[in-house]
Amino acid sequence: MIQFVHIHQFLCPVCGASIALPRQSQLGEYEGQQYRPKGVWPINFVCTQRGQTCEVEFDAVHLGILTPTVPYLRKMGLWLIVGGCAHEDCTNQCTIFVWHEADQSAENVVSAILNAKPMIACTWTHSVEFQAEKMTAEKLGF
Ligand SMILES: [Zn+2]
Ligand SMILES: [Zn+2]
Repeated sequence: MIQFVHIHQFLCPVCGASIALPRQSQLGEYEGQQYRPKGVWPINFVCTQRGQTCEVEFDAVHLGILTPTVPYLRKMGLWLIVGGCAHEDCTNQCTIFVWHEADQSAENVVSAILNAKPMIACTWTHSVEFQAEKMTAEKLGF
C-alpha cells in the first residue's frame, strides 16, 4: 500500500519548482496539516536553476500531498547557507535558502550560490559581499 504524506511547500518564484519544507527546521515545523512558522520569514531564496535571488513570504507556503517515494524528495533538498559579509569591517551574516541536489558537497552548493551572484541588501549602503571562505552550507533533512 502506498502511504500518502502531507508536505508544506512553496513554488520557486523564478522557475516554479516545488520546494518542500522540512518537517522541522529553522523555518518552522509541521503540526498535522498546519505549519507553524518561526520568525525567519520572509526568507532569501536563490534559484540556482536561473541564477536569481528572491524573497519568499510565508504566505506563499501551501499544503500539498505526495507519496514518500516521490523521487525528487530523495534527490533534492532544502539547503541553508550562512554567509558572513566580506565588505570592509562589516560583521553581518546573511541566511539564504536554496533547493539543490541532496547529495552535493557543501562546497558545490556554495559555488552554485556564488555563481548566482545573489543581491541581498546588507545595510543601507551596501549589498552582502559573499566569499566562499565565509560561507557554510547545511542540508536540511526532510
Ligand atoms: Zn527556481
Ligand atoms: Zn555587510
